[in-house]
Amino acid sequence: MTNAAHPFDALMDITARPKKVFVRGEGSWLWDDTGKRYLDFIQGWAVNCLGHSPPFVAQAIASQAKTLITASPAYYNAASLRLAKALVEKSCFDQVFFANSGAEANEGAIKLARKYGALHKGGAFEIITFEGGFHGRTLATMSASGKKAFEPLFEPKVKGFSKARLNDIASVRELINKNTVAVMLEPIQGEAGVWPATDQFLKDLRTLTQEQGLLLIFDEIQTGMGRTGKLFHYEHAEITPDIMTLGKGIGGGAPLAALLATERASCFEHGDQGGTFNGNSLMCAAGLAVFDEVSRPAFLKSVADTGLFLEAELQRLSTRHGLGEVRGRGLLLALDLKLPIGAALVAQALEAGLLLNSPRPDTLRFMPALNVTREEILQMTDQLDTMLTKAGAARRVA
Ligand code: PLP
Repeated sequence: MTNAAHPFDALMDITARPKKVFVRGEGSWLWDDTGKRYLDFIQGWAVNCLGHSPPFVAQAIASQAKTLITASPAYYNAASLRLAKALVEKSCFDQVFFANSGAEANEGAIKLARKYGALHKGGAFEIITFEGGFHGRTLATMSASGKKAFEPLFEPKVKGFSKARLNDIASVRELINKNTVAVMLEPIQGEAGVWPATDQFLKDLRTLTQEQGLLLIFDEIQTGMGRTGKLFHYEHAEITPDIMTLGKGIGGGAPLAALLATERASCFEHGDQGGTFNGNSLMCAAGLAVFDEVSRPAFLKSVADTGLFLEAELQRLSTRHGLGEVRGRGLLLALDLKLPIGAALVAQALEAGLLLNSPRPDTLRFMPALNVTREEILQMTDQLDTMLTKAGAARRVA
């Protein structure tokens, strides 16, 4: 490789990327550098909860940038105080630590649980996580994840994570021992292909962890901030976890994440946790603008309604083309294709100006902006309908 190589070559080749360069976004739409427009049902992997470049978030960032970007994590700043207060007022948690990515927030949750074990449970440090779970790409969060493809990578992993099966409370009970301090899960396993924990399983987990004196940690990086039609997914199961992490939607596209804990679980001491950019004014100002919009009851109701509309449309496609189930909640949904045609559909969609995601070969995942319109949903399902008709015809000929 030389310095004269194509700019694509100056970036580490960490994933297969189509050779498209995106230059502008607005709401549910993205434009590449040739002027081609794409309808975006990925939204930065469920990140742009209000669509691309929402004007009031852009305005909040611009005005904060002119006032104060970073004071230093050694001092308080007004934006992070306001956002922390807003989060604790609208959740069951008492304290917040801001992070810059979901993995970093989860790394903080793991450290907090271990600290709790050191202080209150005789040094217990093991955390029960779940097969298929995804918690990030730092070493500890890869170790906590139950993703098969991670297993051979970067050995030795961080120890102390045993894997139970989602929706199988007996498999959790079996793993509890004197070293166990917490159970950690995504209420809907997103990266694995949108596999929801049932509300009953979440209730049973809360009962079991309370009986055993264990912390319950919800990774709501994908499900939080209104994605499922409630501000936080734990509200659906009418239980309260001890620790929760947020990421993705909390910054509306800006890199922001958060670790929240109840007073009992919030046990960091000075020197345990920190970070240069954590809680900086610029990102917290973006978070505040997002939070003001997403936490409105009318907004959450509209997410739930739009989610039901998308679900019905996907169900219609499934019936028409003989596909499998539609899974998920709110605007985090998956369509089981029953055949390994996900990657081919994603590639065709891209050429047709539609951005879709296939987290596993037989599944499409839909994570549009939370303010996606019904017209945009119908435009997407019409395009998908055409592609599925072609795929069916090709299969009949073959
Ligand atoms: N946890 C969950 C449930 C996620 O979906 C993700 C990202 O996809 C992460 C953690 C990691 O977040 P980040 O990529 O911001 O580090």
